[in-house]
Amino acid sequence: MGQIVIYPGSFDPVTYGHIDVIKRAAHIFGKVIVAVALNTQKKSLFASEDRVDMLKASMKGLKNVYVETFDGLVIEYARKKNVRVLIRGLRMISDFEYELQMALTNRRLAEKIETVFLMPSEGYSFLSSTLLKEAASLGADISSFVPRFVEKRLKERLSTMSQHNKMTHH
Ligand code: ADP
Repeated sequence: MGQIVIYPGSFDPVTYGHIDVIKRAAHIFGKVIVAVALNTQKKSLFASEDRVDMLKASMKGLKNVYVETFDGLVIEYARKKNVRVLIRGLRMISDFEYELQMALTNRRLAEKIETVFLMPSEGYSFLSSTLLKEAASLGADISSFVPRFVEKRLKERLSTMSQHNKMTHH
């Protein structure tokens, strides 16, 4: 059967870095649930449905990976599904402090749930959705950071946003 794990995040949008972590998790564990957070503090560029769609399209061919959304505390969501392992990605030392803090907070809240960290291929260790959005909005070529359909959706979304901004500011 193998262990079921949850990989939570905002995935706004999914990048090759996330996909790398998901593939690694899918090799080790029996079933990976990629869980898109609905109530994140961060203001997201994409609606949750779009984030889910792009993730699903990126997971084609991986049969033990599922995409869902969740609201509220990740440990409550994990408890409800009887899942005892959370996956997070660690890129650089700079991720470590925040991730350690969150893992230890979650452990205090739910002692039996462990956080397991996976490191992406070094080629993706600098890649973040935030930087990606900034680079894309300035016209950078982002084809080596995200799948084609994400690149397309990102360009569409950014142009809708800039038209909207022009209308509201002029
Ligand atoms: P969150 O808002 O929860 O941080 P993200 O979608 O930004 O959600 O990231 C989800 C998880 O994936 C985090 O653990 C983050 O460190 C990790 N992650 C993000 N980008 C990469 C990457 N390029 N390589 C590996 N892990 C990554």
